[in-house]
This record gives sequence, structure tokens and C-alpha cells, in this order.
Amino acid sequence: MRILVIEDEKKIASFIQRGLKEENFAVDLAFDGEQGLFLAETNPYNLIVLDIMLPERDGISICRELRRKAVRTPILMLTARDAVADKVSGLDSGADDYMTKPFSFDEFLARVRSLLRRSSGSASNVLRVQNLELNQLSRRVFRSGKEITLSAKEYALLEFLMLHADEVVTRTMISEQVWNEDFDSFTNVIDVHIKHLRDKIDIDETPSLIHTVRGRGYCLPANPA
Ligand code: CA
Repeated sequence: MRILVIEDEKKIASFIQRGLKEENFAVDLAFDGEQGLFLAETNPYNLIVLDIMLPERDGISICRELRRKAVRTPILMLTARDAVADKVSGLDSGADDYMTKPFSFDEFLARVRSLLRRSSGSASNVLRVQNLELNQLSRRVFRSGKEITLSAKEYALLEFLMLHADEVVTRTMISEQVWNEDFDSFTNVIDVHIKHLRDKIDIDETPSLIHTVRGRGYCLPANPA
């Protein structure tokens, strides 16, 4: 899951970024409105956190522009002001939810999860594919009931494969959705993480749950072969 945070107050931006990274999200930051709009139009984000008062271009106009261009990514707006008029214009411009600064990270995270749940159309926080189970709230992973300990990136990679079970996911899709802007496409970092993930989730000599689709990418079948 990849999140864009458009916020010019660097302290708040890095506080949000740090917290989200601890929750295994890939996070990109933009410190002004133009850069934020550019990133939002260029990359496939699962969620955008958008401050209203920004240099170059304000949050309300960014939100309108994205909706006008049919970008439907959920948007959580932030503002220091809590005037009713601001909330109304924020929501009117196409934002999905609204938070007034300062806020607690716990409440922020709860709203992020709720927006992600709503947009994925799933009511539960548990993903199940074959005998794998992944709990998005506790971030615990089980295979056949036995818990598996994953690194943050391995977890994010597995979550992405499970959300796209039965689909071929390409290295480009993985780099765009599981890594952030700092991803270096000239390395084999994805293949290395897939290998580590297989080492952890596969049992004995059985064929890997994660199939390699030659020349295209990877696939996690919804049902055993
Ligand atoms: Ca601001």
C-alpha cells in the first residue's frame, strides 16, 4: 500500500511518514501543491493525505483537479483551521474525510485504515488466499495456522500479492505500489525480497505458493493447482 502525503510543514510530514512506515506503508512526501499534484497524477497511490494551506497551490484546488481528471484515490484532508466552512469546501471538492491539526497518530491511522477498507470494498481486515492468512490490523501472517515473521517489506509485498491474487503482478506494479519514489529500478531488490518471502512462507519441498510467470512477473493463485 502506497500513500502520498502533501504537507508543507516538514515536522508534521515526517511525523506522518515515520508513523506510516512503521505500519508498513510505502510513503512519498510532497512539500508544495504543484509537486503534490504532479506525484498524485503520476503514481498509483492507495491514499492521498492532503493539507489545505500549501505553497504553490492549495489543497482544495488540488482535490478538485484530481477529481476532474477522474483520479478516484481516497483523499484525507488536513488543516490547522477547524472552521465549518473549510470542512464543507474540503468535502465539496471531493475529499473523503477530514482531520483538524493537531491530531493523534492513532486517530489518523484509524481513519486511513477505514478509507482504505472502504475503497477496497472489503469489510474485514483479514485477507485469505489458500492457507495463507494476513491480518491488516495486527499485521500478523499465518500459513496453515502457523505464524510467520516477516520484515516490513516482505509483509508489504505479500499483502500486495494477496490483494491481487490470481493476477499476474509485474515488477513495475510491485515497484510502484510497494516501494516509494526512492526505488532504484536497476537493482534486483524485488527478486531478492520474493526469494526471502518464499523461504519463509513455503513449507518443505512443496512448489512455491508464489509462481514466477516467465517474462512477466509473479502470481499468487487463489486456489491450489
Ligand atoms: Ca500547511
